[in-house]
Amino acid sequence: MDREQLLGHYEWSVGVCFRHPAAGGTETTVIKTLYPPDGGREVVRACQECVLRMESQRREAALEGGFVYEPGRVGQELHPN
Ligand SMILES: [Zn+2]
Repeated sequence: MDREQLLGHYEWSVGVCFRHPAAGGTETTVIKTLYPPDGGREVVRACQECVLRMESQRREAALEGGFVYEPGRVGQELHPN
């Protein structure tokens, strides 16, 4: 699966990557929504480079652990086969 196909699984909008805050506003996607115990909602966004890196880590982890790898699910748990 190539880069464009992987990125096509996500919806992109301008935001700040959780790993690259210094980069400022860039194309990002929401990978996780956190609900802190003190209330409110925190959205975690990642840039395209980070998403691609996490996708490949996820694929490797899935192969090693015997899990199903499905692209487009960074930030979600891996499910056993
Ligand atoms: Zn990033």
